Amino acid sequence: MADKPHQNLAVIGHVDHGKSTLVGRLLFETGNVPEHVIEQYREEAEEKGKGGFEFAYVMDNLAEERERGVTIDIAHQRFDTDEYYFTIVDTPGHRDFVKNMITGASQADHAVLVVAADDGVAPQTREHVFLARTLGIGELIVAVNKMDLVDYSEDTYGEVKADVQKLLQQVRFRSEDASFIPCSAFEGDNIAERTGNMPWYDGPIILEALNSLPEPQPPTDAPLRLPIQDVYTISGIGTVPVGRVETGTLNVGTNVSFQPSDVSGEVKTIEMHHEEVPEAGPGDNVGFNVRGIGKDDIRRGDVCGPADDPPTVAETFQAQIVVMQHPSVITAGYTPVIHAHTAQVACTFESLDQKIDPASGEVSEENPDFVKSGDAAVVTLRPQKPLSIEPSGEIAELGSFAIRDMGQTIAAGKVLSVNE
Ligand code: GDP
Repeated sequence: MADKPHQNLAVIGHVDHGKSTLVGRLLFETGNVPEHVIEQYREEAEEKGKGGFEFAYVMDNLAEERERGVTIDIAHQRFDTDEYYFTIVDTPGHRDFVKNMITGASQADHAVLVVAADDGVAPQTREHVFLARTLGIGELIVAVNKMDLVDYSEDTYGEVKADVQKLLQQVRFRSEDASFIPCSAFEGDNIAERTGNMPWYDGPIILEALNSLPEPQPPTDAPLRLPIQDVYTISGIGTVPVGRVETGTLNVGTNVSFQPSDVSGEVKTIEMHHEEVPEAGPGDNVGFNVRGIGKDDIRRGDVCGPADDPPTVAETFQAQIVVMQHPSVITAGYTPVIHAHTAQVACTFESLDQKIDPASGEVSEENPDFVKSGDAAVVTLRPQKPLSIEPSGEIAELGSFAIRDMGQTIAAGKVLSVNE
């Protein structure tokens, strides 16, 4: 499995349209439901005198477990296909989805949008598509599901497809990045095999579409950006900051700078999985030691970069945000906590610059007095303590953040520009 490229896949769509069933079906068809689980279900099925052991039985059990609140949270499920090794990342609706997605913990490369053929575009279809676009996913596979409930009708499929296409246009999702597949997750039509129930469809089935997704490109030519998670003191070595390399490479012998703490020094050693290594690249979790830097010189939330191309420290920054859930309204002066990479810093809404219509992506109001749940907006934020943050996608993927208040994520955002 490990030799295949890895893809993070989000499965999005309105509640009850079949996301869990589709994921269950994919795990089952690709042989990724653990053998002992299948064995256990098979035994139970026999005991209960159920004849054929089949998908429905697996799903019933998974559904029962879900009702009992046991396991089948579709987030973090894994399966592999001929081409890729997939991890299902948090789905919208999952409590920490927004926070995890934007802080990079579960950044999705691509997404499957599940739309039930008997229900069509529903409120969360709209919301998730908008969120996926705002937070930047690559390709979208639109699974028009539950085709068995509409007599496998080509006309119904055509209508649902047209409605989804209209929605994608509204949020300006590039139509060439979306593909449509009529299927039934429950019956298994067009998931891993063509069952002959939809002879009018000759496009790719779900597994084929997953296999032909473009391979995610690791960000290699970007400068080093390594947000610091913790700082340890290890006897015999000294101060050891640890974190995950987001972009670029960390090399022994080079000069690095920590921002906003504003200290620099030469990298003496790098350790990964308890072994010394000469360099580390994107995705690597490392501990390292820098000449002359003590435990109190740096802290969690600092970003490490090359001394000659250090991470930016923002005086203010402009960002596009989506307000997920706020009990009242957000006005200028509001100061919640921003979670960006490993940093948590209180930031004041200095100005509300534009309100954006979530459906069209167009500016609907300049300098609005307030924004509320469901709104998208461009705002200017002022960190109350030094914060290293950079435009999203420009230098490194460190420009996504969550806005938290009252113990919950109230908004998600991406940095558009930074004033140093
Ligand atoms: P989720 O909320 O989007 O994860 O939806 P679920 O996967 O939990 O499915 C909701 C209900 O629809 C369940 O009762 C499923 O058995 C049913 N369902 C899912 N996919 C299909 C399908 O392709 N055909 C039919 N007939 N029912 C389905």
